[in-house]
Amino acid sequence: MIDLKPDYFINTIYDIDFSVLKINKINTLLIDIDNTIIPFKTLLIDDKVIDWIKLLKKEGFKLCLVSNAYPRRAQIIAGRLDVPVIYMAKKPFKKGVVDSLKLLNSKNDESILVGDQIFTDIFAARLAGVKCILVEPISTSDFFMTKIYRIFEFFVKRNLKKEKMK
Ligand SMILES: [Mg+2]
Repeated sequence: MIDLKPDYFINTIYDIDFSVLKINKINTLLIDIDNTIIPFKTLLIDDKVIDWIKLLKKEGFKLCLVSNAYPRRAQIIAGRLDVPVIYMAKKPFKKGVVDSLKLLNSKNDESILVGDQIFTDIFAARLAGVKCILVEPISTSDFFMTKIYRIFEFFVKRNLKKEKMK
């Protein structure tokens, strides 16, 4: 049985506590795109996201976007943020996550995945043996399949409590 409970459940990417990651020997962040760092379907990258990515780099973290999005859109976003990307990652399968680890030359036990969906992001992270952070989706707009996942997600999330990272 896959444990769908994320290691951390917080509001937004800005609630990620870098020092907690470092204490836990995490040096790699694998980051979902849609509804985690930008609203679904848009190419609108908030300056705050750009600054956050810069800060992560400055803190020495290795980064990769891992998204089920199509190549063009994923590459535009990755280009603007100047980070590598694995697109069409096919989460909930683990392949995209495993590929991102290979790309960064990172180990699964020193990596953490950040995403907004239990049945794709958290599931894929668990299969790949990577820790995971669940954030609230930043928009209510979703891919049609996601709308279905959200129904099941509701029941899982009911039992989760948002907590400050520690
Ligand atoms: Mg997402």
